[in-house]
Amino acid sequence: KKFPNFSIVQREPALDNALRPKSLSEFIGQEKIKERLALIINAAKKREEAIDHILFVGPPGVGKTTLALIIAEEQNTQIKMISAPSIQKSGDLIALLTGIEEKGVIFIDEIHRLSPSLEEILYSALEDGSISIVAGKGPGGKVLSLKLPPFTLIGATTRPALLSTPLRDRFGFIATLDFYTHEEMVKIIERSQKILGLNLSYESIYEVAKRSRGVPRIANRILKRIKDYVDLRDNKNIDLTETKKVLELIGIDENGLDELDRKILFTLKDKFSGGPVGLKTLAAVLNESPETIESIYEPYLLRIGFIQRTSRGRVITPLGLAHIMRYYHDQ
Ligand code: ADP
Repeated sequence: KKFPNFSIVQREPALDNALRPKSLSEFIGQEKIKERLALIINAAKKREEAIDHILFVGPPGVGKTTLALIIAEEQNTQIKMISAPSIQKSGDLIALLTGIEEKGVIFIDEIHRLSPSLEEILYSALEDGSISIVAGKGPGGKVLSLKLPPFTLIGATTRPALLSTPLRDRFGFIATLDFYTHEEMVKIIERSQKILGLNLSYESIYEVAKRSRGVPRIANRILKRIKDYVDLRDNKNIDLTETKKVLELIGIDENGLDELDRKILFTLKDKFSGGPVGLKTLAAVLNESPETIESIYEPYLLRIGFIQRTSRGRVITPLGLAHIMRYYHDQ
């Protein structure tokens, strides 16, 4: 029987790995969360116990996985990482739980996507520190209780409301990570560009920060494209005009909107006369899943006031309309 390989779910390209902060002090921003984490980690170390279970809540790309890796690093233990949708059978989850070393960390990304039966197994593992396994079928079958070593569960989610209340209550610390401020983004970009061996002008750093929507992953992605551009020549300096050229090439506009963001606005405007339109209908027309639209794209468009959510569906705002008209006019 083939067991799933839990250790590293997606093999990270070396560059992404190099960009990840390796300690709390290297991790920029989210000061209150770092303070709480340092306290939790140090207390657990002193008591020689496993760190309490932690739930990271926040949009994609703001550092949830990075913090989980840092915690395992600080605790000097093994970390097993997996994304909830890839756990299909209860056997997979049981193998994951029983295979962890003492004080080890289990990281479950998108934890809100666990099926109810898997959620229940996980809940009982956290509640009693053991799991029940049914061995054999029919009258001869037995329920075996398996004691688990003390371990730390770290969950990451964009949608905490979809977790069952009992499971949510088992986390000792629920940390909500926010989008980063402009100043923090500037610091993150300065750090990342150095690691990538680039030399962006201050205006360029400012421009990348402005267009990264407060999300480090987006900033890093832009910097990697700038690196592609610069790697083709000897001069590693890059000024604002060139930075803007790269941004235009990869389709990120003045407001940090990408192709799909603009397609959402355009669809609202042209196909639905500005809205309101329901999420499912909108997603179907865009050929995307409602989940992707709702958790990845909408939050930013709502935040900058380009769309609004009403009881009857999504509508484009005058601000969103003006942006999309200007964009296509300039093209
Ligand atoms: P999430 O798990 O929330 O989707 P990640 O932890 O994978 O996000 O972070 C995405 C990338 O952004 C990482 O590769 C990391 O390099 C970078 N990053 C995230 N948060 C920070 C931060 N506070 N400081 C520096 N880099 C960060």
